[in-house]
Amino acid sequence: MTNLNLIRWLLAFVKPLRWLMAGAVSLGIISNIVVIIIPVLAAVTAFQIFSGVTINLTAIMIVLICCGVIRGVARYCEQYLNHNIAFRLLAIIREKIFAQLRLLGPARLGGKKSGDLITAITTDVEALEVFFAHTVSPVLIACGTTILTVGFLARYHLGLALILLAGQLIVGVLLPFFSYRKHQQIGDHYQKNFVALNQAVMEDIASLQDIDQYNLQTEKLLELQQKGANLNQQYRLRLQQGSVLRIAGEVTLIATSLIILVLAVFWQLPMETIIVAPILSLSGFGSVLALNGLGNDLLMTFASGRRIYALMQEVPAVTFGTTDKTFALDEVSLQDVAFSYEQGKTILENINFTLKPGEWLGIGGESGSGKSTLVKLLMRYWNPESGQIDINQNNLSELSEEALHQLEGLMEQQTFIFETTLLENIRLDNAAISQAAVLKAAEEAEIAEWINALPDGLQTVVGSQARSLSDGERQRIGIARMLAYDAPLLLLDEPTSNLDYLNERSILSTLTKKIHGKTVLLISHRPTTLAITQKQLHVSGKTLKP
Ligand code: ATP
Ligand code: MG
Repeated sequence: MTNLNLIRWLLAFVKPLRWLMAGAVSLGIISNIVVIIIPVLAAVTAFQIFSGVTINLTAIMIVLICCGVIRGVARYCEQYLNHNIAFRLLAIIREKIFAQLRLLGPARLGGKKSGDLITAITTDVEALEVFFAHTVSPVLIACGTTILTVGFLARYHLGLALILLAGQLIVGVLLPFFSYRKHQQIGDHYQKNFVALNQAVMEDIASLQDIDQYNLQTEKLLELQQKGANLNQQYRLRLQQGSVLRIAGEVTLIATSLIILVLAVFWQLPMETIIVAPILSLSGFGSVLALNGLGNDLLMTFASGRRIYALMQEVPAVTFGTTDKTFALDEVSLQDVAFSYEQGKTILENINFTLKPGEWLGIGGESGSGKSTLVKLLMRYWNPESGQIDINQNNLSELSEEALHQLEGLMEQQTFIFETTLLENIRLDNAAISQAAVLKAAEEAEIAEWINALPDGLQTVVGSQARSLSDGERQRIGIARMLAYDAPLLLLDEPTSNLDYLNERSILSTLTKKIHGKTVLLISHRPTTLAITQKQLHVSGKTLKP
């Protein structure tokens, strides 16, 4: 992805807001011009008084005061507009990223580091602010201001105007460009180190117990310190580069003004030109100096932009169909299904079975044999490589995502508990499920008694930071969640393998007693668990055997 393409892609977001941006640019040019008018007018007036010309001092004072006021108001409005545009665009881009994450689904996101994703939706998006608020319109503002100031000076003397133009081009174009070229890698390296530190912190938090148990504190701390030091190193490089740039910008400004002064004297130009030209030059650099740091800032922004672009270009593993209607489950059938995650590494082949309504089928097999993969195919995280999965004689791929989720309920080895009330943990913010229905599901999952004994009942907040739950309680919440959603086809992937024997027996007995009229696919490597199903198959040698 070249930067030009990236810029084009980013600019496409600005298009709908171009009139606002035009307003911001106009205000920016006005605010820069009045800043130049103040010293130039003051100098010209001083010169005229000095030469004995009679002037209306009051009128000039009024003009100067007006310029000051205009500067303040125009600058405020320009900044307001630019940031308003930028943050609106960031919100739009964030929404697009979330939509894309949803589209990519578990299949594509499963392989990503959570640190990367979090960086994408936080830091990366934020970094684009530099482009939208501090690049697009400042570049246009600088162009406009430069044309006006150089044009104005050209009326006095063309040679001096060209020197001013050269100085402004050095500060606004050459310096940022060379700094960008020279330090291109810094942006990418900084980003990588930033993600690495993020990822390490998150992993460490998630594995606190293991770190404690295996006495890894010192190693982990060292690792964090190392990653922090790497990040600091990159940060220092960035700061250094910024300072060098700023100094170079200021030096160019002073040098240009000096050259203009010396040449004006040397060429024996009129006194007014000798006064106006250097002052115009000294005050005319504001807009290009604003671009001076761009090379540096855009390094980060483009690195972030490229990552967001790459994420947005990813193609989802599946696209859902359009069949929206819900229907009673009649039959699930798999015909000659084969699947592999990577080419040439077949996980499943020749998978054939049929599930009739109300049937309970158990699927066993060794760890890594492909049992969970089978569930993922039924959930349409992935499409089969060949063969067909049908529901009521319709291909699974014809169903919309909503229809599929209404048809299938999934429960896994571990139930994720959100940091919210038990009520919302069971109905997952689906307001269509009433509190009474949640309570009924909890009763069927045999956890209602436990919930009712809590001081806040269903309103008790649970989850990582709040009250934590036992594995058995978690799984019962999982069952309640599944029952509250009331899908006709239940996919149970090792629902009890996290539990001890007694807990397992008790959960299995709940499942057999309370699940009525549902079709169930139960996956487990434990024969004792599979025993609750009427029929069992085993994944062995990539295929299903009795
Ligand atoms: P377990 O009993 O341990 O849960 P399983 O039978 O459910 O095992 P699967 O999770 O289906 O096994 O995995 C089957 C094989 O596919 C394994 O070798 C696993 O490493 C591989 N695998 C799983 N997910 C992916 C993936 N996203 N990309 C590549 N390979 C994968
Ligand atoms: Mg599994």
